[in-house]
Amino acid sequence: MRRQCSVSSCRQQATGFSTHCDAHKQTLRRHGHAEQKGVTVHELRPYQERIRERRAKNPGNPTWALLERRWEALTAHAEATMARYAAGTPAITHERQTAEQLLTLRDSTSKDAVIDTVLALFAMNAHRPTRFQSDKAFRFQVARRVRGLAIANAGLSRDAKSGRLKRTYRDTPPRAMECLAASLESAFGVAGLRLAELDMREATTGEAERRQLAAALKDLQ
Ligand SMILES: [Zn+2]
Repeated sequence: MRRQCSVSSCRQQATGFSTHCDAHKQTLRRHGHAEQKGVTVHELRPYQERIRERRAKNPGNPTWALLERRWEALTAHAEATMARYAAGTPAITHERQTAEQLLTLRDSTSKDAVIDTVLALFAMNAHRPTRFQSDKAFRFQVARRVRGLAIANAGLSRDAKSGRLKRTYRDTPPRAMECLAASLESAFGVAGLRLAELDMREATTGEAERRQLAAALKDLQ
């Protein structure tokens, strides 16, 4: 029986047991939703800049050091997972892949870059909620943009057995994407939501002030 792809705007036939055509099946796999478009570096940049500004404005605030501590704990846990695996303890594949990615990130990019990318995505989600098709699609974008930091910097990944870095460009399996996103969210999610809230409030205040000024200017004689 031939069925149409379940994406309503799509004219293609669904393939195999899937409810999607090949293209949408691949998008679902890569982005966590068949209709999610990947968040680009360019799109995320203004949100990252605002996080950097906030860092610069509040250098003594303990938030930043606490978030760094959380990143260190996450990578230490990943290191322990990989050490157990290297010693012969079986590991759940997507957990091992996530540990590998966390160590690759630790070795190839700065803590701030990882933290600010996650915080920026939370801010973007608050400002542009319709940009994300679902919570899962949001999590995939977090994982993709953070993973992209390592790819952009080095294109390196850690060999599971030898522990050495090697160049790879393979796609990360969906379960590993979810697992990476869950780790990042558990470490930075609360701060991400709080900073996004602050960001939204400032944006609304700015907007209210602009409206007041516009109204006041109209009354000027
Ligand atoms: Zn389709």
